[in-house]
Amino acid sequence: MGASRQVGAAGVGANGAGGGRRGASGSAPWQARRRGARRSGDATRIGPDVISVARALVKLRRCGVTDPLERLAFAIGIKPALRLRLGARAAGREIERFERAGAAVARGADDLVYVAREEAWARALLRVEGTVLPGGPPRPAGPHALAAHREVGRLLGYPACCVDGFLARLERGVHRLADGTVAAELVVASVEADARSSRRLGRLNCTLPRRRALVPFDPCRLDCPHASRYVGALFEALSSRLPGPARQLRRRLLAPMRLTRSGQRLGAADPGPALLTLRFDGF
Ligand SMILES: [Zn+2]
Repeated sequence: MGASRQVGAAGVGANGAGGGRRGASGSAPWQARRRGARRSGDATRIGPDVISVARALVKLRRCGVTDPLERLAFAIGIKPALRLRLGARAAGREIERFERAGAAVARGADDLVYVAREEAWARALLRVEGTVLPGGPPRPAGPHALAAHREVGRLLGYPACCVDGFLARLERGVHRLADGTVAAELVVASVEADARSSRRLGRLNCTLPRRRALVPFDPCRLDCPHASRYVGALFEALSSRLPGPARQLRRRLLAPMRLTRSGQRLGAADPGPALLTLRFDGF
């Protein structure tokens, strides 16, 4: 999934199955390290790391910040791995913080950092995504690339149904609707998700600027049960820690959204031509 906003602008994915994928050999190693950190009085004892998540979410209200919601999902155990793009200055500090909390980190090219509970998991992400990262000569979305994207999605915890939706778009061209209309990738994904939905859940609204969305991937539908379960757990965790920002985010996610073909978000009063209007039935 490296060639697209699915992981590119989107940052990292989620364990949409909601089951808290814990790595190849279960949760024990991570839990043990966390317990060890707690005994030693380490300030990061609550995972990597809710304190910085809280700080980051406060900053989020003021400006775009890096992936605080996904860090929270990782910290509470519903997300198996993080894919972060960290600037050179922040990377050393951030990596140290994750490692102190017992996480495994693999550092890739272009400021990419993969964080998981086990080293093999982080290294697998680094290795598999390395074969499909953008750059270099254009590569068709052939069987190898599709398999690699599927594996990256699995390692990041994306629901398989949502990954399948992404792969179908990738094969066709992520900027092309089924009828051939060319549009922004966000718009193509949203039109398809909307068309498949019986109910439109605001929690799965992925049309806000990416770092303000609860769902870090494009859901296959706006009532995808797997994506919905993941986001439900994440929102509950966020609400219990930061009720004010959570309420604010909920309001924003539930607001009707109008998108132009190029992906521009139109205000409610803006008469501009929208390709897609989303109205949500519930949260
Ligand atoms: Zn799905």
